[in-house]
Amino acid sequence: MQLDTLWSFMQVDMEADKFESQMRQSPNRQKLVKARDFLKDQQANMKKLENDVAVMQDRLEAVEDEAARLEKVLQGLTETYESNPPANAEDAQKQAEAVAKLLDTLQRYEAELTKMRKDADTKDRQQKEIRVRAAKTKIEFDQLKVEYDKEFKADTAKLQEMRAHTEQEAKKVDAGLLAKYRSIKQHCTPPMAKLVNGQCSGCFMSLPSATLLDIRNGDRIVECDNCGRILYDAGE
Ligand SMILES: [Zn+2]
Repeated sequence: MQLDTLWSFMQVDMEADKFESQMRQSPNRQKLVKARDFLKDQQANMKKLENDVAVMQDRLEAVEDEAARLEKVLQGLTETYESNPPANAEDAQKQAEAVAKLLDTLQRYEAELTKMRKDADTKDRQQKEIRVRAAKTKIEFDQLKVEYDKEFKADTAKLQEMRAHTEQEAKKVDAGLLAKYRSIKQHCTPPMAKLVNGQCSGCFMSLPSATLLDIRNGDRIVECDNCGRILYDAGE
């Protein structure tokens, strides 16, 4: 019977599919993907840090320039004070206030510079850590890649062999039936299910007696109303 041939074809077809999915889930492949993602993340982190440092560097330079300018202003004030002392208490008070204000600003700049230099050090350390980690992962990745490439080559050859065998088996199956099988397989796999105790063994739905009768008569291909699989009565 046609369905017997299709059923045995399905066994080799499913075996090849299973092997292909095992290939995708290979532990080496997953480790490799993980290492690759990690390296990508580190690259992104690195880029962000470099950006941060560049922005910080600009700000640092601007504050340093401004601090240097204020130092000069302060120096000018001091020189004026010495060469041309204030004539009265009011002038003296005004000059003292100007100096105090400058010193205050300079102090704030100093504090900000200290903080920025510390931040820059931290980011520098982070960059170094990332570089070390990434280099270590890259070595692991390269070793793993060599191993995985070997594994993948062997597995691919085996899969090709299995697929070729499947193609051979497919030739034994009626073309229309095979097309139906392949179209069901698009949304439901395995595409065939045995009939067991009046139930579809794919989705376990109990089949109506009219369907059972159709299957028993065997004059047409019957699909499960619920899951769409081709129902196969193995006569067990
Ligand atoms: Zn079903």
